[in-house]
Amino acid sequence: MNAKTDNDFDAIVVGAGISGMYMLNNLRELGLKVQVLEAGDDVGGTWYWNRYPGARFDSESWSYGYSFHPEILKDWRWSEHFSGQPENLKYCQFVADRLDLKKDIRFATKVASAHYDEAANQWTVTAEDGYTARARLFITAIGPLSVPQMPVIDGIDDFEGEAFHTAEWPHHPVSFENKRVAVIGTGATAVQLIQEVAKTVGHLTVFQRRPNWCAPLHNSAITDDEWADIQARQDEIFAHCRTTHGGFIHDADPRRLLDTPEEERLAFFEKKYAEPGFGIWMGNYRDTFTSEEANRILSDFIAGKIRERVKDPETAEKLIPKDHGFGQRRVPMETRYYEAYNQDNVELIDIVADPIRRITRTGIELESGARDFDMIIYATGFDAVLGGFNRIDIRGEDGQSLREKWADGPLTNLGMQVVGFPNMLMLVGPHNAAGFGNIPRGIEQNVEWVTGLVRHMRDNGLDYVASTPEAEAAWTEEVIEASQKMLLTRTDSWFMGVNRNIKGREKRMFLLYASGIPYYRKLCDAVAADGYRGMVLR
Ligand code: NAP
Repeated sequence: MNAKTDNDFDAIVVGAGISGMYMLNNLRELGLKVQVLEAGDDVGGTWYWNRYPGARFDSESWSYGYSFHPEILKDWRWSEHFSGQPENLKYCQFVADRLDLKKDIRFATKVASAHYDEAANQWTVTAEDGYTARARLFITAIGPLSVPQMPVIDGIDDFEGEAFHTAEWPHHPVSFENKRVAVIGTGATAVQLIQEVAKTVGHLTVFQRRPNWCAPLHNSAITDDEWADIQARQDEIFAHCRTTHGGFIHDADPRRLLDTPEEERLAFFEKKYAEPGFGIWMGNYRDTFTSEEANRILSDFIAGKIRERVKDPETAEKLIPKDHGFGQRRVPMETRYYEAYNQDNVELIDIVADPIRRITRTGIELESGARDFDMIIYATGFDAVLGGFNRIDIRGEDGQSLREKWADGPLTNLGMQVVGFPNMLMLVGPHNAAGFGNIPRGIEQNVEWVTGLVRHMRDNGLDYVASTPEAEAAWTEEVIEASQKMLLTRTDSWFMGVNRNIKGREKRMFLLYASGIPYYRKLCDAVAADGYRGMVLR
């Protein structure tokens, strides 16, 4: 590594969220000169952008933070078991200050292009404001859900009221009082938002295309005694998360639902439904993820809960998914979400039955007629996983475009490298295990693996790493095979790369690695132990 001028670096990292911050810390510890480029005005990534009311963790706060730094663990205290966005952002700022990260981050810098120069074995990265920097290593830390996606609806720009996408929420307070508010979408974001807006809104209309299976979060403040216990067990908690499929504290119950007597499984479901967090999903019988019959029994139980909680039977039926089973898409965790629909001023519209024709100057026109609103909130999700890559013009050897290479779906080696793009390393790219789970746990694994690779290169005087075509083909095949047995491949979701607001993305593709973080770690570590098998290093 031999950085020369001010804008020459050993490594450029794009993104100052959870993965970019940790990567910066580790590369600096290796003695590299690093520049992080970040589009926002502050660190935090997801927690910087998603400041819509109600945004909070769905993983236990004390299982979400970084585990690598004893002093950060000792000095930071979470106030709730599932902490809200303002505190999550403060945590990121706290870490950045503690590790003195900001001095190597250039904020308000949207990366426009990254081009590899073969002769110089160097990446040139250019931002929209004209800033240019060069480095041997180009590392993407751009997150799987960082490009907000608006719906494709005629007239969207005509609306004269307030309009927001949840992932581009304004930094000033937004009031819903005495307002007629429309929310489009019913994913995890919308669910968190709707239950919050319903508390103060004049009138709320939710436009639902497909319902999701939601489950209660059971959030609460962390008492002093609980915190003392959590702090005493921190090592144990993180060690446990390293063993679970998704890096959560919850892991699939080893029993099979289909082998369990009805009374016993009902009691188990009730217990899980009453517990905080993802236990009802991630901690359920293992065959609920793979057997249609087991999954149907669990889905029937959850449907029963929705019918109990929503007073109007017609509304309850609208809220029960009929096209996929429980847990086949990421489960939105809720706090009185279903009860919001019992309020007289909250209404649910099924836009499959009554489609949106267009957005007008004053509201939304449905097939059944027009409705006026003061505010429209788009909770329509992201151009997941691929969007962050596609919006940068990334070119590798021979000027080959990554966008074009991945036009029919991503091809990667370990989800971290791409043939033809030497010295480019992806931290939460496609084919990675982190996206399914408790993302920081997956991120730590990836960052630490990349750190090991960079250390190996530094110690051996190497400055070039590239995947072999064979290793890329084998990993892409492994990703497809790993997903085949999972029920989640049988429904459209961002996991499966489907986004009908984007041309050409109607087809399902395998965006994430489904065999779990521990198995993924084992495979990655074996590659390293084998002298970085499947990679050309020189
Ligand atoms: P999402 O799951 O993709 O949901 C988008 C919603 O918008 C869906 O209900 C979708 O309907 C609807 N939609 C999209 N285009 C539409 C259109 N043209 N007309 C009408 N409706 C449309 O996105 P998200 O809710 O932002 O969540 C994405 C992921 O972020 C989650 O799965 C989760 O991993 C993460 N997240 C985590 C938390 C947390 O608790 N930590 C909170 C929020 C999000 P269809 O279902 O019919 O496509």
